[in-house]
Amino acid sequence: MWYTHLVHAHARGGLGEIPENTNNTNTNINTCIIKVRDLSKIYRIGKERVTALDDVNIEIKRGEVCCILGVSGSGKSTLLNMLAGLEKPTKGDITIDRYKISAASEKKLAVFRQKYIGFVFQSYNLIPTLTAEENVALPLVFRRIWKRKRMRMSRAILKLVGLGDRLKHRPTQMSGGQQQRVGIARAFVSKPAVVFADEPTGNLDSKTTAEVMELMVKMAKENNLTLVIVTHERDIAQYADRIIQLKDGKVTDDYRIERTDTDNSGENANE
Ligand code: ADP
Ligand code: MG
Repeated sequence: MWYTHLVHAHARGGLGEIPENTNNTNTNINTCIIKVRDLSKIYRIGKERVTALDDVNIEIKRGEVCCILGVSGSGKSTLLNMLAGLEKPTKGDITIDRYKISAASEKKLAVFRQKYIGFVFQSYNLIPTLTAEENVALPLVFRRIWKRKRMRMSRAILKLVGLGDRLKHRPTQMSGGQQQRVGIARAFVSKPAVVFADEPTGNLDSKTTAEVMELMVKMAKENNLTLVIVTHERDIAQYADRIIQLKDGKVTDDYRIERTDTDNSGENANE
């Protein structure tokens, strides 16, 4: 489970040479937060070799909402897992906010994830025995924030995502869309530098998908957080500033989208 990394890091403690998360101090949105250089990943199963990623080069700016688009098997999850420091590259380098994660030890990576990374999963990955407010408060445990403050922060963000009346509900007592809102609240509550989302709407109907996507983008924009969403659905891409297309482990297209503000449906058309 994802949180075992957190527990491990907490037990070992110590932030070592990992630099402070500069998300809240660095206001220059044009700085590059994620740098991927000559990245390849080859899986070996017996004598078989699968090239999941083949010489990928990407730079993502702070505050950018970026969509990695590609069919099943194109290498999207492999890329996201390496960006989040969950898997090691076969070749190449990944730097996040000046920290070279591809060279870091497992111990350091676990601490790095606590400080820098939020994750939203397709299957929500909430802890079934915990209530919504306890699930959201969990990442704050590893930031050494007092329980009363953790719960206050958790309740505040759950209200923001429209779940102020579901604080004491457990995952099985909520719909898929509600569970994913809890997942989003948990990913954003500690204001990480980057939030990664792997097929976050894969289990949701189209109406709920739109609500969840709008919510995630709003949370990212309001906090100037970088959001990287992986999906095989082209419709999801409309929410992004930028689309990176993957095919057979290679970047085949990379372009920015001019966002028209659909929220104001024409009211501010000239702005
Ligand atoms: P996507 O997320 O785009 O569907 P993945 O990144 O999961 O694609 O997989 C890319 C390729 O790498 C696929 O061919 C897949 O079979 C292979 N692959 C992924 N993970 C592993 C693994 N742990 N061991 C072996 N092959 C893998
Ligand atoms: Mg995948």
